[in-house]
Amino acid sequence: MTLPVTFVEVVEVRRITPRTARITFAAEELADTVGTTPEQQLKLCFPRPGQAEPVLPAPQDDPMGWYRAYLAIPEAERPLMRSFTLRRRRPGTRLVEIDFVLHGDTGPAAAWALRAAPGERLGMVGPSALYAPPVPFAEAAAAADWVLLAGDETALPALATLVGALPAGVRALAYVEVADAAERQPLESRADLAVHWLHRDGAAPGAALAGAVRAAELPAGTPYAWLAGEAGAVRALRRHLVEERGVPKPSVDFTGYWRHRLTQDDAPTAEDLADAQERLAGS
Ligand SMILES: Cc1cc2nc3c(=O)[nH]c(=O)nc-3n(C[C@H](O)[C@H](O)[C@H](O)COP(=O)(O)OP(=O)(O)OC[C@H]3O[C@@H](n4cnc5c(N)ncnc54)[C@H](O)[C@@H]3O)c2cc1C
Repeated sequence: MTLPVTFVEVVEVRRITPRTARITFAAEELADTVGTTPEQQLKLCFPRPGQAEPVLPAPQDDPMGWYRAYLAIPEAERPLMRSFTLRRRRPGTRLVEIDFVLHGDTGPAAAWALRAAPGERLGMVGPSALYAPPVPFAEAAAAADWVLLAGDETALPALATLVGALPAGVRALAYVEVADAAERQPLESRADLAVHWLHRDGAAPGAALAGAVRAAELPAGTPYAWLAGEAGAVRALRRHLVEERGVPKPSVDFTGYWRHRLTQDDAPTAEDLADAQERLAGS
């Protein structure tokens, strides 16, 4: 399976909340399948200081071959890569919208997004079926009694596409932790969706989310649960659901989207490796 790799150019930057930049990019190449399913994950490649655009190896049939070519670029020139979610493709165009959480000036992705302007170019790897979940969300949701979604603002782009894909008649509960009330976003769904917004208001990431889910009186029956956000918070939520609420492990899809005080380049911790094994075992 070929890994799609293309340059994308900023055409519009909008602050949809004080801490979220919605950036529209024109992609040089874009497969017809992009934007047709929810939760499409991709990686963005950011230029190093002094580069007008990132150095991108050409697409190859073998995705591992592409990653090898990427790693063979001397470190000082190799683009920094970060994970994002396709928020929306504008129908009939090669324009893609990606929401960036502006969490500060410390990470290359957030720092870039703070200052992004039309004309700037990044690399985009994916979306690809290689990053897609083994069981499509709609299928897993349809087989469950109800759906639980929980995450923070980094998970909102994916969560919005997931609830947008749920059909009428499905009961869904979403718990979303954001910095404060100004960060709430409208979520559209045909499902019977109840959204609980939780405000961090300066507390540690994930504390409000974990507290709300723990205290919640959840519907009867077995849910399909989708969890994403800060890795420690996601881990704690999954443990709660499996160990204290009796939700079967295969009914919980969980992904640590970022790590408190660690960058995406830092080596995985023992807990990250254990999570990866659990995810593999569940797939
Ligand atoms: C599959 C997937 C999809 C994702 N989709 C999106 C998306 O659509 N939009 C989006 O904004 N993010 C998304 N993320 C999360 C994003 O990749 C991380 O937040 C990433 O760390 C940002 O890179 P950076 O260069 O800004 O910071 P890094 O260089 O990775 O980290 C620098 C510092 O910032 C801290 N940090 C990182 N993220 C946050 C945060 N959100 N809040 C507070 N501190 C933070 C780190 O702990 C570290 O101390 C996704 C992640 C995954 C795995």
